[in-house]
Amino acid sequence: MTSGPNTPTSKPRILTGDTPTGRLHLGHWVGSVERRVALQDKYDCYFLLANMHAFTTRFDKPADIRQDTIEIVKDWLAAGIDPKKSTIVLQTEVPAIAELTWFFAMLLSFNDVMGNPTLIHELETKGLGDSHSFGFPMYTVGQCADILAFRPVYVPVGEDQAPHIEMCRKAARKFDQLYCNVPNRTEDKDYVQAGGVFPIPEALIGRVGRLPGVGDGKQKMSKSLNNAIFLSDTAKDVQKKINKITTGRQTPTEPGDPTNILFQFVDAFITNEARVAELKDRYARGDNLGDGHVKQELAEAINTLLEPMRARRAEYEKPGGDDVIIDIIKDGVKRANVVAEETLYLAKTAMKLDFGKRLLS
Ligand code: ATP
Ligand code: MG
Repeated sequence: MTSGPNTPTSKPRILTGDTPTGRLHLGHWVGSVERRVALQDKYDCYFLLANMHAFTTRFDKPADIRQDTIEIVKDWLAAGIDPKKSTIVLQTEVPAIAELTWFFAMLLSFNDVMGNPTLIHELETKGLGDSHSFGFPMYTVGQCADILAFRPVYVPVGEDQAPHIEMCRKAARKFDQLYCNVPNRTEDKDYVQAGGVFPIPEALIGRVGRLPGVGDGKQKMSKSLNNAIFLSDTAKDVQKKINKITTGRQTPTEPGDPTNILFQFVDAFITNEARVAELKDRYARGDNLGDGHVKQELAEAINTLLEPMRARRAEYEKPGGDDVIIDIIKDGVKRANVVAEETLYLAKTAMKLDFGKRLLS
């Protein structure tokens, strides 16, 4: 098969993605997006817009989901994702994902899903209580299908996703053992070689696996928790939000804890290591270094990172920008379906559901 805009390459694949529940924030950058940008040349990358999953919590807001889908693609392009190199996957236009979700739902137990610690935490922190939809826990199974539809080797994600990736690995092993006769003692790296349809993908946790949110930093930075600094925020908003970080320290001469939430941000975003060491030393000794000063230097560093992203994003904020994005999404959908349909066909064949090969045009 020759490589072209609609054909997959022979490079190993990567899949990851974001849910359009709002714009991208700094947690996405350090947890996953930074890595995606870096890996685009070496891998055949698929970046998924989990718009179906956005309905699990926002089923009453279809217009918001649609716009957030477009905004996330703008954020991706602004961050440096190149749609000529990488494939953008719109979940709702790749039917193989929904079909594979059913198959994996049979291979995972009810307890695998309901006992997933990230799911339990989300039910708490998002205030979903007992009133959540049936579809909410189902998204974890759907995510196995999102990933496995592309048979990737790596999934670059933040720390909160580790239990989801574990579920996905479990589903892949079970499928391969059950339907492809892969012996159960096979090492994870050898599943495909042993005849499995699915590789056992590995999570690649980002440089900062869990960036805290602004405020008291108890929760991770999250689109849904109103504690995020967005990649598209103005320089002024960045400073304002950084100022919201609370450390409890009173004066610049009080010895401070250089591992507190403010310094987690310093570690993540001030790139000059010697300067970081100096700030930590002075902070720990109470050597006339106020939180306010650290926050200002931090905001400057973040704004230096975000400035080129703002400039690239501005190109898509001009009239007609949304249409350009929609064309990029449509192009990605075509490429994504080539791979996902092939996966579905292989999976169905292994499951004795080989009643013909359908064509998605
Ligand atoms: P939501 O609140 O709707 O769940 P989110 O902010 O958690 O949104 P997701 O779309 O669920 O964002 O996550 C997309 C990717 O970004 C995942 O790989 C996730 O692990 C990573 N990520 C999200 N928040 C953080 C964070 N604070 N630190 C590190 N990585 C993060
Ligand atoms: Mg999340």
